[in-house]
Amino acid sequence: MSEKTKFGKCPRCDTTCDMTWPAISRRDNKTGICSGCGGSEALFDMKMHRKKQLLKNEYNNDIKMQQEIDSQIVSECHWLIKVQE
Ligand SMILES: [Zn+2]
Repeated sequence: MSEKTKFGKCPRCDTTCDMTWPAISRRDNKTGICSGCGGSEALFDMKMHRKKQLLKNEYNNDIKMQQEIDSQIVSECHWLIKVQE
């Protein structure tokens, strides 16, 4: 592999990760974000498309689960709450 890994900070979750080939944010179609955030945005949009509006319970359950798993992912959850307001 000739490509060197380029580490950078994901502007969405503030995590330093491999940004050699970043995912492109669905919010502006140009900002490079980490693959985890790319997946989160895609899932969020899929839920929005299916339900039009996420239920408050769904947010609360996600936050509780993600706090148990990894505090880093919680910052993404805070972003989701901002969208709902
Ligand atoms: Zn990220």
